[in-house]
Amino acid sequence: MSTLNVEDIQRELEYHYPDLRVINEDGRILVRGSFPVLHDAFVLDRFQIQVEFPPDFPDSFPKTWETAGRIAFTGERHTFIGGASCLQVPEEWLSLPRSERTPLHFFQGPVHNYFLVQCFLDIGLPWPHGERSHGVLGVIESFLELLGVDSPNQIVPFFKALQHTWIKGHWDCPCGSGKIIRQCHQEHIRNLQSRITPDVAGKAIARIIEQLELHRKEQERESSV
Ligand SMILES: [Zn+2]
Repeated sequence: MSTLNVEDIQRELEYHYPDLRVINEDGRILVRGSFPVLHDAFVLDRFQIQVEFPPDFPDSFPKTWETAGRIAFTGERHTFIGGASCLQVPEEWLSLPRSERTPLHFFQGPVHNYFLVQCFLDIGLPWPHGERSHGVLGVIESFLELLGVDSPNQIVPFFKALQHTWIKGHWDCPCGSGKIIRQCHQEHIRNLQSRITPDVAGKAIARIIEQLELHRKEQERESSV
């Protein structure tokens, strides 16, 4: 059930972001306006943006666009084909406690971080250390960190285990050690279960498949030029 309400979001944002307007356009909840990139309390730069809140927010991730044509639509700039901004891997956001997934936190966290990096790129600085890569590589980096595992090969098996609401100790451990879960990653998996719901685990697996597919298409396109 959606509890999204235009007035509530406006009230939540107006102190920090007086230049953003929340509107309901044909049932779509949109936030539009001038977004300040801050360093301490100093405004470094501003971007014209639009954010669309999905009806099931905060259980899915809003879509964000830079609307003045400042940011090129390239992987280097972390934009999707079609121009939406690639803020972060949504499952990372969905694994935060629900109380932290508010509209204000969305603007102060993923949106702010994204446009801060765009400021760096505008003045020719390299992609900052610790920021994720774009595309499939960024998704893999994100999931390795989220799951606390070392190898990309462990990502899908761990998410598959997390798709169950319970796990059995005699199952093979998803880490690939050949041991059973009880003698290996049982505690680790229990900790993950407290943050990553079966629904989010399913979305994460779909995300990897989607990104691998996109990656394959991009490579085909490059090799046919
Ligand atoms: Zn294990």
